[in-house]
Order: sequence, then structure tokens, then C-alpha cells
Amino acid sequence: MRKDVLKKFRETLLGMKGQLLEDIPDRLKHEVESSKDEGRDTYDLASDERDREINMILNDRERTKLMAIEDALLRLGEGSYGICDECGEDIGVGRLKVMPFTRLCVRCQEELEKESRMTKNFDDDRTFRRLTTTDTEEESY
Ligand SMILES: [Zn+2]
Repeated sequence: MRKDVLKKFRETLLGMKGQLLEDIPDRLKHEVESSKDEGRDTYDLASDERDREINMILNDRERTKLMAIEDALLRLGEGSYGICDECGEDIGVGRLKVMPFTRLCVRCQEELEKESRMTKNFDDDRTFRRLTTTDTEEESY
């Protein structure tokens, strides 16, 4: 993939991450205020403890998404971005545009969904999955 295309995806991912973390300071502030009553100084928290707090504040879906974004950023750095985890083929740029943090190409994603529909409870991450499949038309053959 071309460098400027990769750069674009990096910006998109960082933007998504920023959006996801946007209202965390508000939620954290609330935490700080409520813990002040117990006489603790939350501002002195080590950063890994703050990370843990952020993790506690995010719901499961947000956390999953954040992890996927972090992971995509990592792969961007490693140069393995845009390659399907499952089959090693390139994930189409069109698909990445819609879902920049995907690890799977359309074909493998569909396979995975077929499987999980049969085995896993579908309800839990229905919203997330809907988000991950919005682009399937775009690359259909
Ligand atoms: Zn694949």
C-alpha cells in the first residue's frame, strides 16, 4: 500500500480514537470528584492506573473498538496493516476506508460470521458486528 494512503488511514484511526476517548475526561472528572470525599488525590495516579480507570469507564463495545484501533495503529507501524489476519491476502482499500481497523478481508469476515452465528451468542456484539459488515456490498463480486 502506498505511503500516503497509509498515512491517511493512520489519521483516520487516530481521529476515531480521539472521538472514542473524547468524553472520558468528563467521566473521569466525575470519578475524581466522588473519590475526593474519601480523601484520595486522584491526580497523582500513575498513568497505568489511569489507563485502567479509562478501561473501567469504557463499556465492552467501546473497549473492543479501542483495542481494534490501537491494534491497527500498531500494525501500521509494523507494516502489516491491510493484510488479512486469516488468509494473508490484501484487504481491499475500499473495505479499509469503511472499517479502517478491520483485521480480516471480506471473505474471511463472512466465514467468521457464519461460524459465530452458529456457535456464539449473537446478541452481545450485534452492534459492533453491524458496524464491521457495512461495507460488504462495496467489494462483492
Ligand atoms: Zn482473508
